[in-house]
Amino acid sequence: MSTEAAAGDFIREIVADDLRAGRHRTVVTRFPPEPNGYLHVGHAKSICLNFGIAQEFGGRCHLRFDDTNPLKEEQEYIDSIKEDVRWLGFDWGEHLYNASDYFGRLYEWAELLIGKGLAYVDDQSADQIRESRGTLTEGGRESPFRNRSVEENLDLFRRMRAGEFPDGARVARAKIDMASPNINLRDPVMYRILHARHPMTGDQWCIYPSYDYAHGQSDAIEGITHSLCTLEFEDHRPLYDWFIEHLPVPARPRQYEFARLNLTHTVLSKRLLLQLVKEGRVRGWDDPRMPTLSGMRRRGFPPEGIREFARMIGLAKRESVVDYAALEHSARDHLNRTVTRRMAVLRPIKVVLTNYPDGQVEEFAAVDNPEDPGTGTHPVPFSRVLYIERDDFREEPPKKFYRLAPGREVRLRYAYLVTCREVIKDASGEVVELRCTYDLATRGGTAPDGRSPKATLHWVSAAHARPAEVRLYEHLFTNPYPGAEGDLIADLNPRSEEVLTSAWIEPGAAGLAVGARVQFERLGYFCVDPDSRADGLVFNRTVTLRDTWAKVQARER
Ligand code: ATP
Ligand code: MG
Repeated sequence: MSTEAAAGDFIREIVADDLRAGRHRTVVTRFPPEPNGYLHVGHAKSICLNFGIAQEFGGRCHLRFDDTNPLKEEQEYIDSIKEDVRWLGFDWGEHLYNASDYFGRLYEWAELLIGKGLAYVDDQSADQIRESRGTLTEGGRESPFRNRSVEENLDLFRRMRAGEFPDGARVARAKIDMASPNINLRDPVMYRILHARHPMTGDQWCIYPSYDYAHGQSDAIEGITHSLCTLEFEDHRPLYDWFIEHLPVPARPRQYEFARLNLTHTVLSKRLLLQLVKEGRVRGWDDPRMPTLSGMRRRGFPPEGIREFARMIGLAKRESVVDYAALEHSARDHLNRTVTRRMAVLRPIKVVLTNYPDGQVEEFAAVDNPEDPGTGTHPVPFSRVLYIERDDFREEPPKKFYRLAPGREVRLRYAYLVTCREVIKDASGEVVELRCTYDLATRGGTAPDGRSPKATLHWVSAAHARPAEVRLYEHLFTNPYPGAEGDLIADLNPRSEEVLTSAWIEPGAAGLAVGARVQFERLGYFCVDPDSRADGLVFNRTVTLRDTWAKVQARER
């Protein structure tokens, strides 16, 4: 722990207070994903909170699949969720559970409520139930089936379970108060009929509990002390408490709500992310532009950066939207300290050093990471023909362009000062080669007479470089609030991915494994993509070097 936000947020204060007052001996939290999609960075906030609190206060955190809807849930999602939680750096130990583990007990408890006259079977259709539920300003209407006898209710409920009725024919509802100002208390549905195979329980059940009924009881069965969820469940809390109060549960968990994470330029909703995947707008759930944890992993985001991000944004009781640049800032900070530097040229132009001996090769020692004194150097070969970035040359340089131009001298990083003598063009007038001379006296990049060019360029030796594909990314959406004007798809950024297929990397980057991270000097942080093949690596740019968020913060201060 150790950090301001972590020490100070209102939920940690409640937990600390409960422990101090002896209301609990151990804090027990849970992360309860529904396995109907891949986790996104919003879930990471919840994971870092729940697992973080357990770590900091010496308690435990359960991973519980909230698998009450067999129509949308799949094994692929279950597997990916486990992988992502582990990747983020958390461990549920032996505490892996499913809401479906409790289907038997939940069913018995529903019979118990029916026996107490606190639940009933309703024959109304879903539409009728919706219509009679009332509105925010108007109470609901009682179902004509609300006052059935206990015996009739029990008989119908057992026959629901036995599979006598088709989907949607009946539901079981809690009998609370159709006039309540809180819609959640107007006889909420506890069970619906669904003849569907469940990934865990198979064909054992044809009735399934609602989230509201299953969730709090699952918490109680597991001895959860603090059930942390997002603000949209605030109005469900009275119902959460009602079930706990009327059932013989073994513990009395309490629910606390915090504001969900919203991020600019992206969407944090599994439903919308699934839409992007299904419509082929992205390469899949793990597309590097996706805000999913698998996408961020593929993009090269370090889990430490995501945890730091969660710490930095803290917890609040009010909804807000966090600038995407804040997330990049957290990643960049970690990458800067930990990632090794190499050189690559993304959009190459050939440079021939006309006075450099043909066939000669020199090696320069390049620093692995100047931010990490524990690292060393690696050799970079230099020879007569090089590639530099096309962007680093202008035939007619505008003001303030200090990089290479006809007659101008620049420094090649670690190597020599070179001067552009001649520009070679093809028939269409495109620049295809620069003829330069190097100054032998400037070996290592410093001139004995003290002259120092304003620009230092990165480069690779043409004879030694290896080909690579590099994928550059922008925001997935151009609109900072995607869909705010109604059409989510219209807000997609048509240039969110740029694929460069003729990049060159220095030989010292050719051995990187899939998932390895690297800084290409002056270009940003990159990560080796699983699409890489033996004859060519594929790199994703994680973030650029420039920290726009830090700049905005500095201005605001
Ligand atoms: P989505 O809308 O993306 O489907 P969800 O809330 O339905 O999200 P769940 O699998 O039910 O997804 O979420 C598991 C946990 O993660 C819940 O406790 C939920 O409150 C939390 N969570 C989901 N989205 C966010 C978010 N954007 N910020 C913080 N916590 C979140
Ligand atoms: Mg949900």
